[in-house]
Amino acid sequence: MVEVGPKVFAYVQATGETGISNAGLVVAEDGAVAIDALMVPSMTRKLVAAIKKTTRKPIGTLINTHHHLDHTGGNRFFRGATIVATEGCREALAPGFPPLPLLQRFMPRFATEFPLLKVVLPTVTFGDRLVIHAGTREIHLWHPGRAAHTVGDATVFLPKERVLFTGDIAFHYVTPLAFQGHIGNWIKAADRVLGYEADVIVPGHGPLGAKKDVKHMRDYLVLVRREARKRFDAGMSPEDAARDIKLGVYASWREAERILPNVMRCYQEFRGETHLPMDLPRMLEGMERLRGRPSEHTCV
Ligand SMILES: [Zn+2]
Repeated sequence: MVEVGPKVFAYVQATGETGISNAGLVVAEDGAVAIDALMVPSMTRKLVAAIKKTTRKPIGTLINTHHHLDHTGGNRFFRGATIVATEGCREALAPGFPPLPLLQRFMPRFATEFPLLKVVLPTVTFGDRLVIHAGTREIHLWHPGRAAHTVGDATVFLPKERVLFTGDIAFHYVTPLAFQGHIGNWIKAADRVLGYEADVIVPGHGPLGAKKDVKHMRDYLVLVRREARKRFDAGMSPEDAARDIKLGVYASWREAERILPNVMRCYQEFRGETHLPMDLPRMLEGMERLRGRPSEHTCV
């Protein structure tokens, strides 16, 4: 738990790869507001313990920045809190988490904890904007309007404290993953994030940073989309394109094999098919080939 503004905290889980996301806490006069609930019980219990060590105020509100399991899996540990999210987040979470065998294949190290998960849906939803007035604090929620990382992303901004929690609209030094996203829109959402008057940016994955770190990620998305377009036009398969694209500095970012789902998603975008789900088994097999061994991959 790191204090990033007066009584504003980031809970950073080191390394930021598959399933390892960040969370946040805002302590107001009349209660605390938590941002994201992490994934499996062992993680969320540690988060809740860290919150209790930080404040005695009850957690009145939990914000989910999007529906992915590594941000909502722990919702049930915030009993009594109002859970706030975008309409798209609630809709995407309502059918439940992905099937157990798929999760266990994606993230084998958490396999024994996945059967313990229960979906708890947000109880208050919003469209594009919402302001939470917690005591004298203002917490501004914003949804990009269209799918970026997912259909229901939200950023959480404290204008007075100049702190921005981006959810998975920002990944710092971990390869961003767009398997349910829209890279063209994600670039625009990242541009909007770069317009915030924020000194500290808490990404969904990876270390704390500032706008320069978000810009790195944005530039990755721009590179992938531009290079994917050339190869799409040349009739190259997504997997060949993923192998062919030179990632430069991004090759050293964690989970570089996410280039494949990102290229697959760009191809869907070019075809106007981002409303269709991705072929997940094909994606996983391709990522395993790119990585050279079966392993764990994704944030779901
Ligand atoms: Zn995510």
